[in-house]
This record gives sequence, C-alpha cells and structure tokens, in this order.
Amino acid sequence: MMRLPKFRYYAPQTVTEAAAILHAEGPQAMVVAGGTDLYPNMKRRHQMPTTLVGLRKIGRLRGVKGSAARGLWIGPGTTLTDLEENALLRRHYPGLFQAIHSISTPILRNMGTIGGNICLDTRCNYYDQNYEWRRAINFCMKCDGDICWVAPKSKICLAVSSSDTAPVLCAYGARFHLASKKGERTIEAKDLYKRDGIHYLTKRPDEILTGITLPPAARFRSAYRKLRRREAFDFPVLGVAVCVRFEGAVVGDARLWLGAVSMAPVEAKDAQAALTVRPLTDETIEEAARLAYPLAKPVDNTDFALRWRKEMTRHFVKEVLREIRQT
Ligand SMILES: Cc1cc2nc3c(=O)[nH]c(=O)nc-3n(C[C@H](O)[C@H](O)[C@H](O)COP(=O)(O)OP(=O)(O)OC[C@H]3O[C@@H](n4cnc5c(N)ncnc54)[C@H](O)[C@@H]3O)c2cc1C
Ligand code: SF4
Repeated sequence: MMRLPKFRYYAPQTVTEAAAILHAEGPQAMVVAGGTDLYPNMKRRHQMPTTLVGLRKIGRLRGVKGSAARGLWIGPGTTLTDLEENALLRRHYPGLFQAIHSISTPILRNMGTIGGNICLDTRCNYYDQNYEWRRAINFCMKCDGDICWVAPKSKICLAVSSSDTAPVLCAYGARFHLASKKGERTIEAKDLYKRDGIHYLTKRPDEILTGITLPPAARFRSAYRKLRRREAFDFPVLGVAVCVRFEGAVVGDARLWLGAVSMAPVEAKDAQAALTVRPLTDETIEEAARLAYPLAKPVDNTDFALRWRKEMTRHFVKEVLREIRQT
C-alpha cells in the first residue's frame, strides 16, 4: 500500500484566508480540491508539498450562476458530478458536458472538481509510477532526475496535458479568475497553459483559481471527442474540442483545439481559418481535418502506437465537425 507523506493541512473558509496561508507558507504549499490527482501524486512522491490548503470549505468557490444568454460563472470547487447534472450546462455547453462526462469514473467525478481538472498535472509513463519504479530508472527531469527518457536530448519535459476540460475551455474562449495575497487578475483560458511538461501553468503557486467564466452560448454550438483505451476510467490520449458560431448558412467563427497531443492544449489555427466564412460542407470538414492533423505530435509516453494516435486526429476532427453540423 502506498501511503501519503506527512503534511500540514489547513481548511480555510475564505479565499482571503487561503491566499494568506499560501503566501506565508511559500512554494512548498499547494491547494487541494478533490485530491483525486494530487493525493495519488503525493503517494508516488512526485509532488511533495509540506502544506496543503484545502478548498472544500470555501463556499464562494462552488456553484454555477448565470444563463445561456448572459454566459455562465462556474466555481472551480464545483464537483464534476454537480456540473454533469447541471441542466443549463448540458443543454447549452454540450462540448463541456461531454468532456466532464468522459472524465474517469462516477466515483472520481463525485470528488474531483473542475478547478482541479483545469490545473491537472501533466502525465507521462515514466513519471506516473511509484517512487521505487522511478528510482530504478534513475528518475527523470520532471521529478528527482536530470534526463528525459522519452527524448534524451530534449531540454524540456514532454509530459502531456491530459485534462479533458482544458481544450474545451480554450475553444470557448473561457476566462479564468485568479486570486492571491497580491491581488486578483483574469486571464484567457488559453493563457494558463505552457508547452513545458514541468512548468505547465502560467499561474504562480500562490494563486488560487477562483472562477471560470463562459461566454454566452446562445449563438454557438460545441462538441468534444476523446480517444482512450477503455470507455471509462482512462485519461485522454487525444481530445478534440470544437466551438462554432454560425452566421446564417456560413460559419462565422470556428475554434478547434486539440488536447493530450502536447504539453498544452493546441489551437488548430489553419483549420479554424479554413472553416470560417464558408458553409460547413463535407469538403470544408475534410480540409479542416487535413490541416489539424499535422499539429498532433504525440510522443511515446502515454498509450497506443504513435502513428495511429496521430492518424486518429484526422478522424476525430471530422467526427466532431459532423456532429456540430447535425445539432
Ligand atoms: C483513475 C483516474 C482516472 C482519471 N481520469 C481522468 C480523465 O479521464 N480525464 C481527466 O481530465 N482527468 C482524469 N483524472 C484526474 C482527476 O480525477 C480529475 O482531473 C479531477 O477533475 C481533478 O480534480 P481534483 O479536484 O480532484 O484535483 P486535485 O487533485 O485536488 O488538484 C489537482 C491540481 O489542481 C490544483 N488545484 C485544484 N483546485 C485548484 C484551484 N481552485 N486553484 C488552483 N489550483 C487548484 C491542485 O493544487 C493540484 O495541483 C483521473 C484520475 C484518476 C485517479
Ligand atoms: S517527458 Fe521526459 S522529463 Fe517529462 S516526465 Fe516523461 S520522461 Fe520525464
């Protein structure tokens, strides 16, 4: 049995209190929400915070407010199950609903939160192992070592962004609200992520995600498709998120993002341009899939054969776009 290392635990009731504790304790402190990612990582001795700041008692971080016409505010401490059961989200933000519904298992979704999913650690077969396994290969750059076993000449870690909601929130143009003792700021979802498997977030360790804002949904359609070995439980090895706004018979605006193919979600800009100001026909769908495909650059650190994973990008892009056309 793998045991948690020792740590100090705080259970603040306000964001101000939580921010003050993070500030006082320094970078060795981390926040924990559902703990479904952080606790297993601590058991494997990947992440070793000496202090944890639990967010579950902060009421302000939970819930959903707003409407499809005005846009939604989602508290990052809201569980994935609560979001899955939210009728507004299911009806008007189907891409996000599909992503949430596909995360792990119902039991983990009862505990896991959307904030934890947004800030999820990157993944790699050489990293997501217990301490003894990692020691046997002399560790790797992401934790305790100095080499990348996937690409020994690489200067950066190639661990994969494996959050299901991240590509969808980027496609929506969602905004994230952050707070720390130093103040508050709001960023675009896409600006939270960095193409670096170790320093994968732009947020500082003392910053708490305090809110997620989704734009009005009335004028767009969205969808998400996920590739994984089993239809439950498994992390994505490819995620395709699309959000399309129609202007009459043509696409006014198209956002297409790939997840789990790099250290951060990837925007398929050429594919987006190919879809815009044109009707969504078989030909434009085919072209978008052709243009999105080269952006998927999977490396050999998760599941399935690389070539096949890359090839599936083409098929998944076509599938999500056809789904959008039918809705
Ligand atoms: C068996 C298994 C299968 C899984 N399958 C999937 C899957 O298919 N897809 C998927 O996307 N995920 C999957 N997960 C990962 C995880 O369950 C989910 O991503 C979940 O949403 C994480 O939320 P949490 O509240 O438990 O995060 P936690 O473990 O509490 O935290 C995760 C990270 O987010 C940070 N964090 C949490 N909340 C905040 C906040 N408000 N502000 C700042 N930082 C914050 C923590 O410090 C930590 O770094 C799986 C996990 C397991 C164990
Ligand atoms: S990509 Fe390389 S450095 Fe990063 S976790 Fe995997 S083996 Fe380690």
